[in-house]
Amino acid sequence: MIRKVKGTRDILPPETTLWNDVERTALRIFGGFGYSEIRLPLLEPTELFVRTVGEGTDIVSKEMYTFADRKGRSLTLRPEGTASVARAFIENGLGQRPQPLRLSYFGPMFRYEKAQRGRYRQFSQIGIELLGAATPAADVEVIVALHTFLAELGFDDLIIALNNLGDPEDRERFIAGLKTELTPHRDELCGDCQRRWEENPLRILDCKVQRCRELVAETTPVADVVSEDAARHVAAVEAGLQEASIPVRRAPRLVRGLDYYLRTVFEVISPELGEDTVICGGGRYDRLISDLGGAAVPGVGFAIGEDRLVDVLPQSFKDRALEQRIVAVLPVGGAAAAQATSLARDLVLSGVTAHTEVTGRSLKACLKWATKMAASVAVILGESERADGVALIRDLDRGEQETVALGDVVARVAELLQARR
Ligand code: ATP
Ligand code: MG
Repeated sequence: MIRKVKGTRDILPPETTLWNDVERTALRIFGGFGYSEIRLPLLEPTELFVRTVGEGTDIVSKEMYTFADRKGRSLTLRPEGTASVARAFIENGLGQRPQPLRLSYFGPMFRYEKAQRGRYRQFSQIGIELLGAATPAADVEVIVALHTFLAELGFDDLIIALNNLGDPEDRERFIAGLKTELTPHRDELCGDCQRRWEENPLRILDCKVQRCRELVAETTPVADVVSEDAARHVAAVEAGLQEASIPVRRAPRLVRGLDYYLRTVFEVISPELGEDTVICGGGRYDRLISDLGGAAVPGVGFAIGEDRLVDVLPQSFKDRALEQRIVAVLPVGGAAAAQATSLARDLVLSGVTAHTEVTGRSLKACLKWATKMAASVAVILGESERADGVALIRDLDRGEQETVALGDVVARVAELLQARR
């Protein structure tokens, strides 16, 4: 047997229904805030991520699916979406459109990680980006849109954690101070942090090892050393969120795994998955587009991990999404088969889900199948009913049956299903 690649997943029905509903809700809510979908390639030049996400990050240093194509070009299966949005912004001259530009995206990302619950090698993200606005109001909008989407899914226990990373210049000062404070304990840091010390010291703040966490807890928070401008910016974001009644928690050690973030950074934490498996990460990235050779276009956005989100969806949302109202169309005897299909078509066009029996089962087997398929109603097309121009409609939940003229079947089925809501 051939098995799927490690860290990839088969998402089967009915779980796919949840995914579809989540994506539809995202399109509705983010679309409502003015974000239009952009569809981007899964394959990008490797250099795009090296230059934006950053060489010293976990993503670029050890998680990318990078390979040479048949002409020897180095390509990478995208590990995230924002870099591609920035590339597409420059390449398609999107700066010519009315600014700011609001974009959303969906789809698979690829990272070579240790596969476990909530951590896959192919996973999906839903993200939005607001490009061309440097104001705190832009950060507030993005977080309000995020909160609205999550509330619409029925979440009421998620925590939005926020921090101020300052500007790149502040960060250099912060890192120098951090190293000074940690130097007496350098030997106590874990192996990964020893590597981070040279390559990406900011990530020491993100280490999950207990001793590293204890040492980091003693250091000066990054928000304490940022410029006055950056401090004012994030304070205004917090004030805006408070005004919108969106609870956020300051997380002084929060850093993101990508180099391009500055000032506002945030995460969404689910109590069920815990702090090491966050649902969403985002922040501001005012230098990303200019670093890629574009104009000085500021941006802010986030990416939600859809796998993790679906994993912890509230029961109320799942019940609603998975609620089924299926009609089984059951032809008995070969002659009724074609009639069954056209009746099913009429039912489908009336907005009902109709499953037609197409394997030629006996009436008894048909009804058994209909029950197994969780149908609420069965329409039975038998020989004698055919001759009389009628059908039998059976309410499978109540066990009641009635004879209805063929022309009235669609309307009667609608009534029966309506009564179920
Ligand atoms: P983590 O700290 O969990 O590794 P990250 O900081 O690498 O996350 P981001 O790059 O910010 O994550 O990606 C945004 C979101 O995408 C994450 O919050 C998470 O929900 C999701 N995500 C990231 N990596 C994976 C993965 N390997 N499997 C499933 N979801 C993921
Ligand atoms: Mg990661």
